[in-house]
Amino acid sequence: MAFNKPATEMPKQFPEERKKNFDEVAKGYTKELALEEAARCLSCKNPQCVKGCPVNIDIPSFISLVKEEKFKEAAKRVKEFNALPAICGRVCPQENQCQKFCILGIRGDPIEIGRLERFVADYERDVGVEMPDAVKDIGHKVAVIGAGPAGLTTAAELRKIGHEVEIFEALHVPGGVLMYGIPEFRLPKAIVQSEVNYVKKLGVKIHLDSMVGKLYTIEELFDNGFEAVFIGSGAGLPNFLNLPGENLNGIYSANEFLIRTNLMKAYRFPEYDTPINIGKKVAVIGGGNVAMDSARCSLRLGANEVYIIYRRGRNELPARHEEVENAEEEGVIFTLLNNPVRFIGDGRGNVKEIELVRMELGEPDDSGRRRPVPVPKSEWRLPVDNVIIAIGQSPNPIIQQTTNGLETTRWGTIITDEATMQTTLEAVYAGGDVVSGAATVISAMGAGKIAAQSINEYLKNKKLKY
Ligand code: FAD
Repeated sequence: MAFNKPATEMPKQFPEERKKNFDEVAKGYTKELALEEAARCLSCKNPQCVKGCPVNIDIPSFISLVKEEKFKEAAKRVKEFNALPAICGRVCPQENQCQKFCILGIRGDPIEIGRLERFVADYERDVGVEMPDAVKDIGHKVAVIGAGPAGLTTAAELRKIGHEVEIFEALHVPGGVLMYGIPEFRLPKAIVQSEVNYVKKLGVKIHLDSMVGKLYTIEELFDNGFEAVFIGSGAGLPNFLNLPGENLNGIYSANEFLIRTNLMKAYRFPEYDTPINIGKKVAVIGGGNVAMDSARCSLRLGANEVYIIYRRGRNELPARHEEVENAEEEGVIFTLLNNPVRFIGDGRGNVKEIELVRMELGEPDDSGRRRPVPVPKSEWRLPVDNVIIAIGQSPNPIIQQTTNGLETTRWGTIITDEATMQTTLEAVYAGGDVVSGAATVISAMGAGKIAAQSINEYLKNKKLKY
């Protein structure tokens, strides 16, 4: 019976082969596989999947178009809600969002909505992207800070309404974490740039190498004729453990390690002359997507023993299940229920060992997860050549420090009204990781969509006043 048919597998590179290269691991559905998967969709009258999507994609309607082999139309349908479908189809945690609500999931595998989204977006890119009809300018100018998923979404949504939008991006490439954090083997950079180009073709201008807070302040943006500002500057500042020995050579923040590897292309040495010093034994501290990416990059850069050190157990790992599985298949060693105590040097300034303490899970903490508690006298040492610290990121404070009246939480995130994404300043909105703290691509995009609607309302009302 169709109801019980398992999900259609997506072809992947074999682990032994892929751990030696940076090519994309998951190869995507062929037309035949996409049709097979779409045929499982029940086209529910009261679809639950849409409720799980932070950008409200009309999922049943795009899957129906796939069933009819109208792939280009399906991509167009998705793009009415999401300007970055090839990206979301690859990296969104669908298992906790749309797919979690799919009715088929009650008794078996839910529909692989993300794989279908990726398929239609890739199909459209191959046959040629169709642009929506050009909109008439309606005479308002908005500045967007940051060209990550939050900024790009806000910009695209505002431009589609007819506002003039300019993005100010600190780096020399647009894309945010999609370019500098998530590795090529999960999200090819050509795909990110193709979706950024779509946003540009909508008419959004992007100024690169333009750090707001250094080059211009928000006040100066207003002085230059912008009527509203959206801050989507992300959370790019690495957190540290503050343990003895953390400054030893060979210890990287995941941020630095991934920027060198992905943005500065250390993996293509000597074509790109970016130094990266990765030895044979690497320990990654943390259990999220950033930790999995760091571990899998280390393998590809030549390490032969890579450890994930995480203080809770397997069920608590915050990384996407698929990425944990991929890391395991590639041979990453999971050292769970362990926490670093200090880093020990070789006497010449290089890290040589980590002292770890075993942990057990105690009572649930405020987050509802069981609190990890050290087991007395259980310390042990793991010899290492490198350590990568992947325990979270916080917002860079430069905008907050240069903008009077912009209030922040004690974690440095910008305070906004949840319903509108307005900050404590008039005409200044914010969203994405800079508000939520490190989260997901789709939640940043969802916040961008809300902010765009609010900015549009604000500008409409402002016009009425005159
Ligand atoms: P960012 O993507 O950080 O973009 C912010 C942009 O603002 C950057 O380009 C930055 O250069 C720019 N900027 C910062 N300050 C300024 C300034 N003062 N002036 C001008 N520009 C500025 N999420 C998922 O959903 N799935 C995953 O699989 C996943 N994997 C991840 C792997 C890694 C390694 C990392 C680090 C994150 C991952 N995430 C994942 C999280 C996700 O990438 C982020 O939640 C998302 O990118 C946040 O979007 P954003 O637009 O708020 O910020």
